Amino acid sequence: MKIIVCIKQVPDTTDIKWTENNTIQREGVESIINPYDLYAIEEALKLKKSIENTEITVLTMGPLQASDILKKAVATGCDKAVLVSDKKFAGADTYATGKTIAAAIKKYIPDFDLILCGQFAVDGDTAQTGPSIANQLNIPQVTYAKELSKCDGKCIYAVRETEEGLETVKTEFPALICVLKGFDEPTRPTINGIIKAKNTEIKILSMEDIGLTPEETGIKGSPTYVSKAFRPEHNRGKCEICTDCNTLAEKIKEFGGICNE
Ligand code: FAD
Repeated sequence: MKIIVCIKQVPDTTDIKWTENNTIQREGVESIINPYDLYAIEEALKLKKSIENTEITVLTMGPLQASDILKKAVATGCDKAVLVSDKKFAGADTYATGKTIAAAIKKYIPDFDLILCGQFAVDGDTAQTGPSIANQLNIPQVTYAKELSKCDGKCIYAVRETEEGLETVKTEFPALICVLKGFDEPTRPTINGIIKAKNTEIKILSMEDIGLTPEETGIKGSPTYVSKAFRPEHNRGKCEICTDCNTLAEKIKEFGGICNE
């Protein structure tokens, strides 16, 4: 079985800073594997343990230094690593990112069975990239998966979180699943894994390698424009206690809420 895990390099900080173009400032900030992607890797490793001849490829789209997170993933037990990297990808929104990753998969691993993504990236946090990749590849997608409960090599059962609780859904391969924080803690790199990672070649794919044009990717291929990025103000400490219903109703109206008399 061929599994691809899409992982994203994110800044190792909660103090996110913005560039003048309203994109996230990444230079000079330590980077880590997006935490949700560690759970996606974990689900892939569990499948590898239970199904013979399973191969896991980790893939990221990012600058050359994103190869560090690929090496870390290989050190935990993944087999191959692909870095989709080209200056022409800069400024890609989630649509262009999905298109670029899908093009790399079509070109380099067209015979995949399963793609795993994290549900969200902790920096951009749109949760759009996984569904966008599935859409570009025209394959079924399952989102908000907590666990992959059963797999026979042809189809897979995912336990997904809903507002009402948990539900189990079945999908045939090829498919894409977006993973939430799961029930099992992510595997840590082992010494043997770190040695293996050092010797693992990272396949680097450029825009030309994956057959896209400058109009289809990067800033030119991105229909999204970020007009403003800001931190919401928290009104913590401005708590008011209403001792009767009328005052409460007045307050609700004052803040724009609807309150039937
Ligand atoms: P989500 O959709 O929340 O991520 C969900 C999952 O998708 C992740 O857990 C992971 O599994 C997968 N995933 C997401 N991104 C990647 C990736 N790159 N490789 C592999 N898997 C991935 N970002 C830049 O870094 N540089 C830029 O120059 C830049 N310019 C932008 C310009 C615009 C106009 C906009 C709107 C965004 C820009 N971004 C840029 C942000 C970039 O589009 C997002 O970081 C990226 O598309 C992922 O979206 P997200 O962070 O919301 O991830």
